Amino acid sequence: TGIKFDRIQQISVTQEGNVRIDPITSFDNAGLHPAMRENVKLAGYNVPTPIQQYVLPAIFKGYDVVACAQTGSGKTAAFLIPILSKLMGKAKKLAAYRGNPANMKEGERYRAEPLVLIVCPNRELATQIFDEARRFCYRTMLRPCVVYGGCPLREQIPLLEKGCDLLIATPGRLIDFMNRPALLTLKRLKYMVIDEADEMLHSDWENDLKQIMSGGDQEEGNITYLMFSATFPKNARDLAKEHLAHDHVRIRVGRAG
Ligand code: ADP
Ligand code: MG
Repeated sequence: TGIKFDRIQQISVTQEGNVRIDPITSFDNAGLHPAMRENVKLAGYNVPTPIQQYVLPAIFKGYDVVACAQTGSGKTAAFLIPILSKLMGKAKKLAAYRGNPANMKEGERYRAEPLVLIVCPNRELATQIFDEARRFCYRTMLRPCVVYGGCPLREQIPLLEKGCDLLIATPGRLIDFMNRPALLTLKRLKYMVIDEADEMLHSDWENDLKQIMSGGDQEEGNITYLMFSATFPKNARDLAKEHLAHDHVRIRVGRAG
């Protein structure tokens, strides 16, 4: 992939916030679900990258996270591994809930009720995140799902109906679905990940992003907010400030941002 991990390992990491993170040094002492430990091995990831060393334990502790690290530093796995690992403990229950008509009203269609929402700026990134999520979900009952614009909404409805524990979406298409509560609800959401926050705020999506970030269950403490970016311009910091819980950590790798 052209990433020099031996070099990346030496880049300095700083953390700010009201909690402190003890970084992990290996995937073996990270407290991963056995199925996730296996899937990390299958992915060929031997050592956590610096951002992963800090973000994994932060997410396991339940803190909100703002993470800033250069492109190619492994941010996707930094949020996917701990989130999916946590969900694996209750994957059977989730699958049973999904398939149970008792959870549907008379005449109602299946409705996607993701526990995890990942918002990112474009179709390519969404697809990449989806592919990585699928690898980490291998041999578990967790179901990732991806939606993006540029193709008819109705083509994506059957994908959601197959089960959607984790939804990866671009902002415009996500709002299309949020405006159709019979198809998608965010009321069970536990994690909201904003990936490439800087790029999304560049592109005219500030209002969409604000609408999305207020669209879940807004009772305080119910949703863990995780923001990832290569840089953190002022509008991204403001957005973070508005949504971060009291217990949060800001992690910066190298000179990024
Ligand atoms: P970013 O989001 O920070 O730009 P990515 O998450 O896209 O970076 O990761 C870049 C590449 O590094 C991907 O090909 C990914 O599979 C790989 N990668 C991530 N973490 C590790 C790891 N711990 N060991 C080896 N490769 C990794
Ligand atoms: Mg990325």
